[in-house]
Amino acid sequence: MSGATIKRDLRTGRPLWADSHGLGVPARPLPAPVSVDVAVVGAGVSGAFMAHELSRDHSVAVLERRAPLMGSTLASTALLQWEIDLPLTVLAEKIGGVNAQRAYLRSRQAVDALRAIVAEERIVCGLKAKHSLYLAGDAYGHRALEAEARARAEIGLDSQYLNAATLDNRYGLARTGAILSGGSASGDPARLAAGLLRRAHARGARIWSPVEVVRAVSDPDGVTLLTDTAHVVRAKSVVFCCGYEFPKGVPTPGAEVISTWAMASKPRQRGPAWLKDMLVWEASDPYLYFRMGGDGRLIVGGEDEASATAHQDKAKLRGKREILTRKLGRLLPDLAFEPDYGWAGAFGESATGLPSIGPIEGLKHAWAVMGFGGNGITYSVIASQIVATEIRGKHDPDADLYRR
Ligand SMILES: Cc1cc2nc3c(=O)[nH]c(=O)nc-3n(C[C@H](O)[C@H](O)[C@H](O)COP(=O)(O)OP(=O)(O)OC[C@H]3O[C@@H](n4cnc5c(N)ncnc54)[C@H](O)[C@@H]3O)c2cc1C
Repeated sequence: MSGATIKRDLRTGRPLWADSHGLGVPARPLPAPVSVDVAVVGAGVSGAFMAHELSRDHSVAVLERRAPLMGSTLASTALLQWEIDLPLTVLAEKIGGVNAQRAYLRSRQAVDALRAIVAEERIVCGLKAKHSLYLAGDAYGHRALEAEARARAEIGLDSQYLNAATLDNRYGLARTGAILSGGSASGDPARLAAGLLRRAHARGARIWSPVEVVRAVSDPDGVTLLTDTAHVVRAKSVVFCCGYEFPKGVPTPGAEVISTWAMASKPRQRGPAWLKDMLVWEASDPYLYFRMGGDGRLIVGGEDEASATAHQDKAKLRGKREILTRKLGRLLPDLAFEPDYGWAGAFGESATGLPSIGPIEGLKHAWAVMGFGGNGITYSVIASQIVATEIRGKHDPDADLYRR
C-alpha cells in the first residue's frame, strides 16, 4: 500500500463516493422566506427520493444544513436489498407472521421500484442487478437458513437454500449453508441521490443549503420552520429525512445509533467471476459483507459496534480495516485484497430491522423518516411512497408496518 493511501485512509477516512463524478446538485442559500406545499428536511438519499416523488404534484423545498449528500448517504456501501436484517422467520416472531411477510414483500417491491425510477429517469449511478448470498454464521446456522429459505419461497420470494457442498462447488466458500436470492441491486448511492435531486429540481423543487431547521411550529393550516438563517419556511406539510441525526423533540422508540465500517480496494480487483453479480453477507454478529463496484473495486463492510460515536474515532479505523481484511481472507483465501479507501459512519438500527416512518406525534402536518437497518436505501424508497400517498390524502395499506 502506498504512503498516500495510508494517509487518506487512516487520517481522513474519506468515503469512496466522495470522489464520484456527477454529484452536482443545484443548491443555494435561502435568499428570502419561502412558502411551499411540502418542505423536506435533509438532502440525503431519503430526502432525494421524497423530493423526487412529491415534486410530481407539489411545490417542494428541500432544506439541508450542510451541502447536499454529506450525511450517511455518502458513507453507504449501497447493497440495495429487499432482505431485512432480521430473517423472515425471526421477524415473524416479533411482529406476527402475516406482518413479517408483508414487510418482506414490500421491500421486494421497493427494490423493483428503485430500479424502475433509475431507468425511467435515466439516472447514471452504476445501478446493477445482483443476486445475494446470505452465508450461515454465528447468529443463524444452516438449519435456520434452510427454514428461512423455505419461508421465503412459500410467499413467492426468489430464495433458494444451498448446502455446504453446493456452496463449495459453485463458489468455493466454506460455510455450512447459505441462501441464494435474486432481485437485489447495487450502485453509487451519492450519484443516485444527486440524480434524484436534479430530477426533482427540474420539476420545480428548490434545494436550499446551507439551511438548518432549528424549530418547527404547526398550526391548523401547516407548519412554520424556523431556520438558522434570517428566513422562515412555511409549508402545508413537512417531512424530516434527517438520517441518524434525529430531530430534537421527535420520539424514536426502539431506534439506536451504532457505528459501522467499510473499505474499498483499488479498481479492477481480481477475484472469482461470480462475485461481479453477487452481494455477499453473513448471518453473524458482527457481520461481514462485500460486493463489487462498477469500476471493479471490491467494497467490504461490517464490524458494527453499539456506539453512536465510535465511527468518529480515527484510531479505530485501522483496527477495523485489519479485522475486515482478515475475515475476508478467511472466506476468500485466494483473493489479494489491498484497501484503497477506508471509512466509517453512523447507522440506525431498530429491534425489528424495520424503519420508523410516520406522522410526528404532537406536531401536525409533520412526518419523520428514521431508524433504518442495513437496507436503509430500500426503506428510503418505501418512505417516499408511504408519505407521498398520505400527503396526497390517500392511504398506503402498509403504513402501519412502519409506524412507531
Ligand atoms: C458505512 C455504511 C454502510 C451502509 N450500507 C448500506 C447498504 O449497503 N445498503 C443500504 O441500503 N443502506 C446502507 N447504509 C444505510 C444508508 O446509507 C442510510 O439508510 C441512508 O444513507 C440514509 O439516508 P438519509 O437520507 O435518511 O440520511 P442522510 O444521508 O444522513 O441525510 C440526512 C441529511 O439531513 C440533514 N439534516 C439533519 N438535520 C437537519 C436539520 N435540522 N436541518 C437541515 N438539515 C438537516 C443532514 O445534514 C443530512 O445531510 C449504510 C450506512 C453506512 C454508514
